[in-house]
This record gives sequence, C-alpha cells and structure tokens, in this order.
Amino acid sequence: MRILVTGGAGFLGSHLCERLIKQDHEVICLDNFFTGNKENIRHLLSHDHFELIRHDVTDPFKVEVDQIYNLACPASPVHYQHNPIKTIKTSVMGAINVLGLAKRTGARVLQASTSEVYGDPEVHPQTEEYRGNVNLIGPRACYDEGKRCAETLFFDYQRQNKVDIRVMRIFNTYGPHMDPMDGRVVSNFIVQALKGEPITVYGEGSQTRSFCYVDDLIEGMIRLMNHKSLIGPVNIGNPGEFTILELAQKVIEQTDSKSKIIHKELPTDDPLQRQPNITLAKSELNWEPKIDLDEGLDKTIEYFRYLSIDRILGDLRC
Ligand code: NAD
Ligand code: UDP
Repeated sequence: MRILVTGGAGFLGSHLCERLIKQDHEVICLDNFFTGNKENIRHLLSHDHFELIRHDVTDPFKVEVDQIYNLACPASPVHYQHNPIKTIKTSVMGAINVLGLAKRTGARVLQASTSEVYGDPEVHPQTEEYRGNVNLIGPRACYDEGKRCAETLFFDYQRQNKVDIRVMRIFNTYGPHMDPMDGRVVSNFIVQALKGEPITVYGEGSQTRSFCYVDDLIEGMIRLMNHKSLIGPVNIGNPGEFTILELAQKVIEQTDSKSKIIHKELPTDDPLQRQPNITLAKSELNWEPKIDLDEGLDKTIEYFRYLSIDRILGDLRC
C-alpha cells in the first residue's frame, strides 16, 4: 500500500514510518518540522519506498494514498502551549484536510487522539465511554479541545460522507526519538539524571500516569488501522500506573545517578490520575503491551546516553 503519515518526523511518527517500510509499504511522510526532527528519519531518507514532504497540515494537500495516519500535532505541554491558536488549527484544520483527502481518495484514515480527551478524569481507569472532564478555557484546552473536535469531525465525516475512519486514544508513550528538550516527564527525568542535575517533580509527585513503550504503541496503532471493522475510539496504553515520584526514583536508580529530587509548582489543570482501561483493545485487537516500565526505561536511557555521546563527539569534531 501507499501510506501517508502526517507528523512522520516526530517521536511516534518516525517509529511508525520505520515499521511500515519494514512491512514493504510505500510511505509518504508529511511534516512541517515544528517539533519533528530529520534525525529521527535520516535512516529512511535514502530508502526507495520513503518520500518526505515538508508541508503544514493546516494547508490542504493532494496525494494518492490507500491509508492515512494523522499524527501531526505537537504533543508535549511545553510545545502545544507555545502557540495555542496554532495547536487548535493543527488539530482541527489538519483533521478537515486529512478527512477531505480520505473522502476523495477512499483511503482509510486513522486519528492519533489522546487520553487528554478525558481531561482530569473522574472515572478511573478511563474507559472509552467516559466523556471526560476538560477545562475548556484552561491552558491545556488548545490541545484537549482541539483533539476532541478532531474526533467529532472524524465521526461526522464517517456518518455524513462514509469516510473509512479509525480513532485511537493514545496514553503517555515514551521511548527513543523523544525530543530531549520537549519537557515531557520521561525525557526530562532521564536527561536530568544523566547530567546529574536535580530531577524536577512538579507538585508532590502524587499525580499518576501510565507509561507505554513506543514499540507496543505502534503495534496497537497498526492493528487498529488494519482491523476490518472496528472504528473506535480505542484506548491504547499501558495500564501499569505510577506516581510521578515513583517514576523519578526509578529513573535515578536505573541511570545510577546522584541527582536529587526537587519539587516545582504543579502546572495549571495537571490531571491527577490517568490509567487506560484496555479491555476493548485486548478483545478486539488482541493487543496488550509487552514491555514493562523497567525494560522500557532501560531502552530509553540507552538511547539518551547514545544521543549525548554523539552530541559531545559532534561538538569536538566542530
Ligand atoms: P511529536 O511532537 O514528536 O510529533 C508531532 C509531529 O507533528 C512532529 O514531527 C511535528 O513537526 C509535526 N507537526 C506539528 N504540527 C504540524 C503541522 N501543523 N503540520 C505538519 N506537521 C506538524 O509528538 P508525538 O509524541 O510523536 O505525537 C504524535 C501524535 O500522537 C500527536 O498527534 C499527539 O497528539 C499524539 N499523542 C501522543 C502521545 C505521546 O505520549 N507521545 C500521547 C497522546 C497522543
Ligand atoms: N512532570 C514533572 N516534572 C517534569 C515534567 C513533567 O513532574 O519535569 C509531571 C507533569 O506535571 C505531569 C506528568 O509529569 O503530572 C506528565 O507530564 P507530561 O508533560 O509528560 O505529560 P502529560 O501531563 O501531558 O500527561
């Protein structure tokens, strides 16, 4: 198949492109490089089945494809709050553009939605039926409401225009190709620990998250895209739930770091808890995560070590 991946140079997108190329598909990666990085896809650039287009999803585009994965959108709070209006445009206009493309070409289109549609959840663990608790005027709303509106558009295009859709709700995912500077908790803690700097826990660190290793996540994404009838929304994430303080302690232990934990102010509207109920993914996609947090952290720490060695060597070469 010929497959379009929007946001293909980002953290998740680059892993997806790699997996699709390995499965012998032709991949078109569309990205405006706002948070993506050419380094993530450098190894694919010379591949015959890989094409890179620098383009913004908020502007319409035409390609002939069989499937579309819509991942274009900054995902870390630091990046999506940098230009909130642009973040909403990316989610909403991006969705309209990929859905229009899918309508014209007959391609199946998958939306990378998020556990953020549940906001600060009052139902725990979160099931797909839960409608969420989002502060619609807070600083996270540009992302949360943008993604909620994108889901609405997907279902309206499906009902009104019979577009073949898939909607996936992704819970916190981590692994190689995360941007070391994007402010997300796993990358922040690992970088701080490797540098021997203080580990910045926001608030008391009693808030929880459930962390999914990227390889598991991509497997779930591809299974949903290729399921014969399941539209979603489907939660994909690792139900293993940890407090942020526990995560900090694990990172210190696994990096063998001398870093100390410090506490900083909790950001506005930071959700208190988050854990996916993955019953639907288990029963319909026969999917569940295989890599636990300890193993996934080891792999991610190894990546960040390699990244910093490479940068130091790079600096010396300069
Ligand atoms: P990322 O920031 O690493 O990747 C996003 C990619 O989209 C980047 O390459 C960026 O340059 C590109 N992009 C942003 N705005 C664009 C625009 N207007 N036009 C074209 N390209 C644009 O983030 P990620 O973690 O890889 O997330 C990928 C998708 O998965 C996002 O839609 C995100 O909302 C969703 N998601 C991710 C997580 C997670 O934990 N990683 C959790 C929930 C949902
Ligand atoms: N967090 C933290 N220290 C950091 C970065 C994040 O304590 O240096 C916390 C943050 O307040 C949140 C959790 O870690 O409670 C996850 O944050 P992240 O930005 O990774 O993702 P999200 O809040 O979108 O789930």
